Amino acid sequence: MARYIGPVCRICRRDNLKLFLKGDRCYSDKCAFDRRPYPPGQHGQGRVKVTEYGVRLREKQKVRRMYGVLERQFRRYFAEADRRKGVTGENLLALLERRLDNVVYRLGFAATRSEARQTVKHNHVLVNGKRVNIPSYVVRVGDKISIREKSQAMARIASAMEARDRRGPLTWLDLDKGAFTGVVKQEPVREEITLPIQEQLIVEFYSR
Ligand code: SF4
Repeated sequence: MARYIGPVCRICRRDNLKLFLKGDRCYSDKCAFDRRPYPPGQHGQGRVKVTEYGVRLREKQKVRRMYGVLERQFRRYFAEADRRKGVTGENLLALLERRLDNVVYRLGFAATRSEARQTVKHNHVLVNGKRVNIPSYVVRVGDKISIREKSQAMARIASAMEARDRRGPLTWLDLDKGAFTGVVKQEPVREEITLPIQEQLIVEFYSR
């Protein structure tokens, strides 16, 4: 599946929000958003009137970019969320949260979701003891996600684990740091997504 490989700091600047796409750099004074908190480009500092459509579009783009999902796949997630019982916006976020690359990121085995994606693709992750190298794999309650024994000594994984705590507590996942293992104890909860997301605007974007 294709993925976005362009510059990422301009995404934060475009969406007017720190999306933490670069790991340690996001917490340092090198953060491009902290230095230049206005949209990128020649007219970034000009006054722009945002339409109602624009507000909904930006919200959708923000969530899509946060999880590193391209448009076609995001639409499929939305269709699935819409098909399920319950609130569509919350279903959508729960589906995105259950992606294996996001779970690896949440557990602290990677510093960013894109690094988590690579960790999965490079066969370092096991689900219930079996190798799974599909970043979009959707985990279920009771699944055990671990780092392959051979990969546990990797410096990149160790430094990501050290920085795990600054991302806040885990609510729907149980982490055993020493064993490099996490268990899905319940369905994802909305509270764990601390970035300001108005999922209702995404629903309105696709329902227009
Ligand atoms: Fe966004 Fe700042 Fe991280 Fe760049 S360094 S991805 S601007 S939060």
